[in-house]
Amino acid sequence: MRSLPLLAALLLSIPRASAAPDHGFDGHAAGRSAPASLETPPAPKTPAIEKGGWVVLEAGDSKTRTTAATAGVSLEEFRPGQVAGFATPAAVARARAAGLKVLSVGPVPPSMRPRDFPGKDAPYHNFAETAAELRSLAGKAPDIASLFSIGKTIQGRDIWALRLCPDAQAASVSRKPGIAFMGMHHAREHLSNEVPLLLAKRLVENRKDPEVARLLASRDITIIPMVNPDGGEYDVSSDTYHMHRKNMRRNDDGTVGVDLNRNYAWGWGGEGASPYPIDDTYRGSSAFSEPETKAIKAFIEGKKNLTTLLSYHTFSELVLYPWGGSHEPIADKNALKAYQVMASEMGRMTGYTPMQSSGLYVATGDLTDWAWGEHGVFSWTFELTPKSMWDGGFYPGAPAIATTVQANWRPMLYLIDLADDPRRAAQGLGLSAFAPSR
Ligand SMILES: [Zn+2]
Repeated sequence: MRSLPLLAALLLSIPRASAAPDHGFDGHAAGRSAPASLETPPAPKTPAIEKGGWVVLEAGDSKTRTTAATAGVSLEEFRPGQVAGFATPAAVARARAAGLKVLSVGPVPPSMRPRDFPGKDAPYHNFAETAAELRSLAGKAPDIASLFSIGKTIQGRDIWALRLCPDAQAASVSRKPGIAFMGMHHAREHLSNEVPLLLAKRLVENRKDPEVARLLASRDITIIPMVNPDGGEYDVSSDTYHMHRKNMRRNDDGTVGVDLNRNYAWGWGGEGASPYPIDDTYRGSSAFSEPETKAIKAFIEGKKNLTTLLSYHTFSELVLYPWGGSHEPIADKNALKAYQVMASEMGRMTGYTPMQSSGLYVATGDLTDWAWGEHGVFSWTFELTPKSMWDGGFYPGAPAIATTVQANWRPMLYLIDLADDPRRAAQGLGLSAFAPSR
C-alpha cells in the first residue's frame, strides 16, 4: 500500500487490470515515488500502529489528503469530504500541526478486517482457504504428508508448509534430497499462491501414478504457498484489489510494507531496491528485518538436504535464475551450464522465456541470489501468467488458474526429479522422462 498511488487508484476507480507491468522481476519498473519523508517531520522511533488507531480527518481534496499522507496517516478509506486511516498518536499530532481537522480517533473498525476475493475471482484461495486445503491434503496422505508452520508473519499469521516426504515429518531431518516450492512473496501476485498449492494437490491426488509415486518415494518436497499472507489478505480486504506488493510492516514514516523479495542478505542495499519506505521495492531497515524472510531463512538453513527451490511470482512468463543482483554470470561453470540447460528445458515446457534474472534489470536482496550465493541451492524465480498487463497483469481472473497450473506441472516434476543432483542437467540427464507433450 503506497499511500498516494492507493489514493489515486481508489479515487479514479482504475480497473483491476491496469496495473503497471512488472517487467518480469516484479516491481522494478514501478516508478519511484517522491520521497515524501523529506518533507515530513522526523518520524518517531517506535510509531507502533498498535498504539495508534483509526483516525477520521476532514479532507475534501487531493491537497489535503496529501497533507494527511505526508503527516503519516495511512489512508485507507475515502468518503465525501473525509478520509480515514491508520495513524499513530505522533502522526495525528503532525496532522493537527499541519492544520488538518481531526474528526475522531478510535479503535480499528470491523469493516477493515479482510473480506475476500471479488465474486468472479472466488476460485482463488484466501489465507483461510489455503490453510484448509493444505490441511485437507495432509489428511489425504498421512503416510507422507505433514503440515507445519515455519514461523509467524508480522501480523501473527502462520506461514504454512506442506511437506511430502517418506522418511520425515514437519521440521525433522530427512535423508532424501530436498526441494521447496514457494509462492506469494508479493501480496498481489495471487496466482503465485494458486500454482504451488494446486500443484501440491496434484501430487497428492496422483500419488498412484508410477512416475509421481517414484518421486514422492525418493524426495523431500516442501510447499510454502503463502510467504506473505498478511499482504495477500490485505489485498483482498475490500471490493477492489489494493494492488499491494509488500508485507504489512508499519514503517517509521507511516507507510506500510517491506518488499520481502528485496530483504534477503545477498547484495542487500544495492541496486534495484529502494531505501525509501514508501516505495514498492523498499528493502527494509536491514537484511532479514522481516519475520517472513527470517522464517524462510530459518527454514532453508535448517534444511541441509535442500538442493533446489522455486519461488513463484507473477507476471511476465519468465524462467529466471541467478544472479539477479549482478550482470555477472555465476562463476561455477558446471552449475551455470546446468542452470542454462534447465532454464531452456523449463522454458520449452511452459512457453516462458528463460534468462538470467539480471538480463531484465538488476535487483538486489532477492531470495534466489541469497539461497544460491549463501547456500548453493539451485534457485529459480518463475514469473507466471500472464505475459503482460494487457492480459490481466496481477489479476488475470479465475480462468488463468487451471491453465497456469497445467503449464507448471511438468517443470515441477522435472525439478523434483533433478533434486538429487541438479548438476546432472549439465550432461543433459533427467530430461527424457518429462519431455513436454506439446
Ligand atoms: Zn513478485
